[in-house]
Amino acid sequence: MAGKIQLISTDFDGTLVSHANDPVFNRDCMELIGQLQKEGTIWAINTGRSVGLLEEGLEDFAFPLLPDFILTSERDVFRPSARGWEPWGDWNARCAQAHAELYNNASSVLAEVVDFVGQKTKARVIYEAEGAAGLIATSEEEMDLLTAFIDRAKAKEPKFHYQRNTIYLRFCHADYHKGAALAELSRLTNTPKQAIFACGDHHNDLSMLDGRYAALPACPANAIAEVKEAVRRGGGWVSENEFGAGVHEALRHFLA
Ligand SMILES: [Mg+2]
Repeated sequence: MAGKIQLISTDFDGTLVSHANDPVFNRDCMELIGQLQKEGTIWAINTGRSVGLLEEGLEDFAFPLLPDFILTSERDVFRPSARGWEPWGDWNARCAQAHAELYNNASSVLAEVVDFVGQKTKARVIYEAEGAAGLIATSEEEMDLLTAFIDRAKAKEPKFHYQRNTIYLRFCHADYHKGAALAELSRLTNTPKQAIFACGDHHNDLSMLDGRYAALPACPANAIAEVKEAVRRGGGWVSENEFGAGVHEALRHFLA
């Protein structure tokens, strides 16, 4: 059965996980993914969460199975090892290098954005070791305002970009996103794009759903309008069911 789908790339929050449900995952969906894994299909979680936050989520929500690979922070690629998740190859190091250079070159854009946030919004800047790493808005409308400002400010630094997910935003290099991380996993696992299924619900999933890296894109019914449109344009499947039930529906569609 698994032949058509050799690699599954699922977003976590809002796609596999519905925070309003208990359990947060869909049993039929996890059962099908588990069955496909046994038949040799690779399952990767492709998320904006960091490794630590994803591990926490998998444990707290008592997920019945573990992914073969995790793609975290919308950019990094990890494989399992005896000591836990480890970077696979030099992708994460190259990614970190590109971001260090970007933050150097784009410091004036970043400063403009931080000023705007402080003066015109109630949003918060998230700081990490390297400096300003992202934003948390107080509403989706405020995030619309913020992204409109960033789009104007970043015109002079075309590689400066961001990943948006509900009220959260992470600054990033334009070449690194969920789609690029998935492409690297596809290269490392020798999986052709034609056999890759990807499913997500929000802005930060668009890069893996537009048909460039996964020929079998899908989204659950709760996905935002932009995602549904991208999935349709990419020849994918827009599920009638929400969250994990929607992932299950889409997998069954492509396996049929
Ligand atoms: Mg999501």
